[in-house]
Amino acid sequence: MRCPKCGCDESKVVDSRPSENNEAIRRRRECVRCGMRFTTYERREETPLIVVKKDGGKETFDRQKIMRGLVRATVKRNIPIGTLNALLDGIEGDLRDNGIGEVTSQEIGNMVLKRLLVIDKVAYVRFASVYRDFKDVDEFSDELRSLLQ
Ligand SMILES: [Zn+2]
Repeated sequence: MRCPKCGCDESKVVDSRPSENNEAIRRRRECVRCGMRFTTYERREETPLIVVKKDGGKETFDRQKIMRGLVRATVKRNIPIGTLNALLDGIEGDLRDNGIGEVTSQEIGNMVLKRLLVIDKVAYVRFASVYRDFKDVDEFSDELRSLLQ
């Protein structure tokens, strides 16, 4: 790992610990030539997650896109952004853990809904109305009824 100050290729690791979210290993390094200390992060290599859309088209998993949907669904619900981030972390973690690499947008929508239901029912219904793409009012009422039971 090249020293950012003098460009020397050799450094020694002086400290090594998991990052806060456990997604990476954080290493403090010290340049053997100039003594400059710097931090590096080691992450597992991530294979891209592919999302298959309703029309059959494919796109790479876009966390920001889901976040935008979540933010819309939780307007004025006083849900901390950290909660939404944790929700996304959980989904992304589940998807990567199962190692399939390809998932339908519907499956993702259901994963979001399952978690949202526990967090906030109003946000759940808002998100469902967009993601489930209800055909008519009856279908939506059915969803609401099953939710209220
Ligand atoms: Zn150096």
